Amino acid sequence: MPTIAPNLDCIAGSLAERFQKLYGTSPHIFLAPGRVNLIGEHTDYNDGFVMPAAIDFYIWVGVAKRPDRILNVYSEHFAEMVQLSLAALAGPPRKHWSDYVRGVAAVLQAAGRTLSGANLMIYSQVPLGAGLSSSASLEVSTALALMAISEVEFSPLELVKICQRAEHEYAGTRCGIMDQFIAVCGRADCALMLDCRSLEHQILALPDDVCIVICNSMVKHELAAGEYNRRRADCESGVKILQRHLPNMRALRDATLADLQQNQPLLPQRIWRRCHHVVSENQRVLGAAEALRSGDLAGFGRLMYESHASLRDDYEVSCRELDLLVELASTCEGIYGARMTGAGFGGCTVNLIRSEAVDSFQSRVTESYKKATGKTLEVYVCAAAQGARAWQPLVG
Ligand code: ADP
Ligand code: MG
Repeated sequence: MPTIAPNLDCIAGSLAERFQKLYGTSPHIFLAPGRVNLIGEHTDYNDGFVMPAAIDFYIWVGVAKRPDRILNVYSEHFAEMVQLSLAALAGPPRKHWSDYVRGVAAVLQAAGRTLSGANLMIYSQVPLGAGLSSSASLEVSTALALMAISEVEFSPLELVKICQRAEHEYAGTRCGIMDQFIAVCGRADCALMLDCRSLEHQILALPDDVCIVICNSMVKHELAAGEYNRRRADCESGVKILQRHLPNMRALRDATLADLQQNQPLLPQRIWRRCHHVVSENQRVLGAAEALRSGDLAGFGRLMYESHASLRDDYEVSCRELDLLVELASTCEGIYGARMTGAGFGGCTVNLIRSEAVDSFQSRVTESYKKATGKTLEVYVCAAAQGARAWQPLVG
């Protein structure tokens, strides 16, 4: 069965019941979506373009005020309660899930606001560590919860930056800004093209009759973190070399394919391929936005396949399982395009599929993947969702 997001009223209702049982009061409820990047991979830290969509799988936070300066935080995923004091949040990453909550509370307070003590309960529909950005949805939903009970306000962009800073300083991950941005600013039925340098963004409507289908390969290679840092270093080396001839260049975002061609003899082969991925990927994002505007889904899909090939061959961040999933997808009926999404070396692929073809896609890919790898695929059938918000129960 495809994992389709269950009814949101049911989730909110049963979270409220469990909250009542644990804490003896009823909660206010906040939710923030996970996200998938449709195209524009490894471009964010090169000042480039990305095109994420928020997905209708959320992290939910139930919250009620306490009269003291204590945060009690219960994660249902880990079945674990943590107690934090609002007076003692500082300190380096502890490599524990509560770092994200501690970080958000600390950065909100560092911005000059006094927070109230609170009881919190976290429920997640977003798989953890699968590249669908559970970390940003946890930060943003927690921030909204703490801000509401403390009667503190920030603009959406301030909220984005507070959450990113919490992840940098308290969880120790130097993430870009895409995840927090889309968790806050996502729009229902739309993707968003974000310029990671200027933070300008464009909302791009997705057609009604397509689904975003995410396939979780269920593999995570140990290589990922080290290789990620090596790719960043390769890009920086490329910029240094290219700057000899292009003195105004600040990041790979500023180079064109013609610049790369002209300077190819200067660039060691590996560095050239890394640069080639980033520069061509930025162009693909711009092309993909144009394709969406003109309703050219076939064109959008072609760019997804090209993005995957570039990540596999030039950037070398794919793996056997992701390549297989894209290959299998490409032989299915009703598919426009498929690619790996996220940093790579495992995690998920994203597929753009005509709605009526989703069931056959799902059974075919799951079966073939099992045969080839022995692994059981998880499939998330998503709609593009609105960004983080307070839960509004339906009246009546
Ligand atoms: P991703 O953001 O792709 O899911 P990350 O490694 O950035 O992967 O973030 C995952 C981490 O976020 C988890 O290991 C955990 O520390 C924290 N997290 C996410 N969801 C929850 C949750 N429901 N409860 C507690 N911690 C969570
Ligand atoms: Mg994350």
